[in-house]
Amino acid sequence: MKDRAWSYSVLSAFELCPRKYHAEKVSRRVSEKSNHAADYGTEVHKAFENRLLRNKKLPLDLRHHEKIMVRLANHEGESLPEQRIAINADFESTGFFDDDVWCRGVVDFGKLKEPNLLLVDHKTGRMKEEFDQLDLMAVMMFHHLEEVENIIGVFYWTKNKRFTKKNYARSDIADIWGDFLPRVEKFQKAFETDSFPAKSNFLCKRHCPVKDCKYNGS
Ligand code: SF4
Repeated sequence: MKDRAWSYSVLSAFELCPRKYHAEKVSRRVSEKSNHAADYGTEVHKAFENRLLRNKKLPLDLRHHEKIMVRLANHEGESLPEQRIAINADFESTGFFDDDVWCRGVVDFGKLKEPNLLLVDHKTGRMKEEFDQLDLMAVMMFHHLEEVENIIGVFYWTKNKRFTKKNYARSDIADIWGDFLPRVEKFQKAFETDSFPAKSNFLCKRHCPVKDCKYNGS
């Protein structure tokens, strides 16, 4: 059986609750609840992209990020627009919608000055001290841009205008995959065995459309 294509958000949704993930994304027997936070995030990403790559003014409600945008725009190197990147199961770069896609990812903004890359992801949610998503984006960029040897990975937390960052070297590739592959194996195994059990979590009470689950509402 061919491996299922995945991304960080797919893996996270599966790990949070396999049953909800399957109902929403695989069988599609339920519709996902509309998500204002996600809509807001999309708006912010678009406004930042317009500011950083097209020098368009930020809308008034985001104008307080201007100084940060200037810092990012002035960072040394060539500005990279949003990068929609994908690799195949042999860890080779491939087209985002190609048949052999194994893993996909999107990088919001980058500055490339060979052999260094600044990789930026804008986060509109609650700040966390977790880096696995950044780890995945960094390793994908190493596969995608073979000239890159060092990456400074940065989350920009828009709610409190703070950065969290992590440095990567090309020699980190094996360690990063060593952390991710067991997680991906569980994801692929679920498809092989058609096993997507319910896993109670913070969404059960009010934010899950799978009404026939015994945890729904509790
Ligand atoms: S109610 Fe909770 S456990 Fe049940 S499918 Fe939804 S998220 Fe999963």
